[in-house]
Amino acid sequence: MVIGVLALQGAVSEHLEMIEKCGARGIGVKRASGLTGIDGLIIPGGESTTIGRLLEEYGFFPPITEISNSGVPIFGTCTGLIVLAKRVRGKHGPILGLADIEVERNAFGRQVDSFERDIIISGIESENEPFRAVFIRAPVVLSAGPEVRVMARIDEGIIMARDRNYLVAAFHPELTPDLRVHQYFLKMVRERKEAP
Ligand code: GLN
Repeated sequence: MVIGVLALQGAVSEHLEMIEKCGARGIGVKRASGLTGIDGLIIPGGESTTIGRLLEEYGFFPPITEISNSGVPIFGTCTGLIVLAKRVRGKHGPILGLADIEVERNAFGRQVDSFERDIIISGIESENEPFRAVFIRAPVVLSAGPEVRVMARIDEGIIMARDRNYLVAAFHPELTPDLRVHQYFLKMVRERKEAP
C-alpha cells in the first residue's frame, strides 16, 4: 500500500514516519503527477489559506477530485480537514469541498491556545483507551451531513469524523507515538483495495 502525503507545506515527515511505522509505504507528493498510483492521500496540517492557494496554483484540484471520486481514501488533519470540507465559515481561500461538513477555523483560539487533551475516538483499535490529541490553532466541525460518522468530540464540537472515503481530524495524530488513528486510515485504504 502506497500512501501519498501532500508535501506543499506543514507536518509532512511526521505523517510519513507514522505510515512507515504502520507497515505501509509513504511518499511525499509535491506535484499533481505524484498522485498517480497512490492508494490513499493524507493532507497534513499547516495553514489552510496557503495550502488551498498552492493546491490551486499547482493544479491539484482536478486530480484530487478525480481520485476521490474513484474512492481513494483521503485523510485531512487540521488544515487538511479545512480544505476537505464542503463549507467553511467566514473568510477563507480555495477548498476542495469534498467532505460533507461545515468547519470553523481557529475554533479554540490562537496559537497560544494550542493544547493537548485525552479524547475517546470511537471506531479505532482499543477505542475505550484515551488518545492523546494535540491541538494547534485547531478547527472544529460545526455540523455534519446525515451520512457522516462522528468519531470524536470535545464538549459539543466534532473533532474527528468519517464521511465515506474521507477521514478528518481537527488535531495532529502524527505528533504522538500512538498509531491508532493512522492504523484506522490504513484500514480504510486496505478495505477499498480488497473490495471486489
Ligand atoms: N489554523 C490553521 C488554519 O486555519 C490550522 C492549523 C493547523 O493545521 N495546525 O489553517
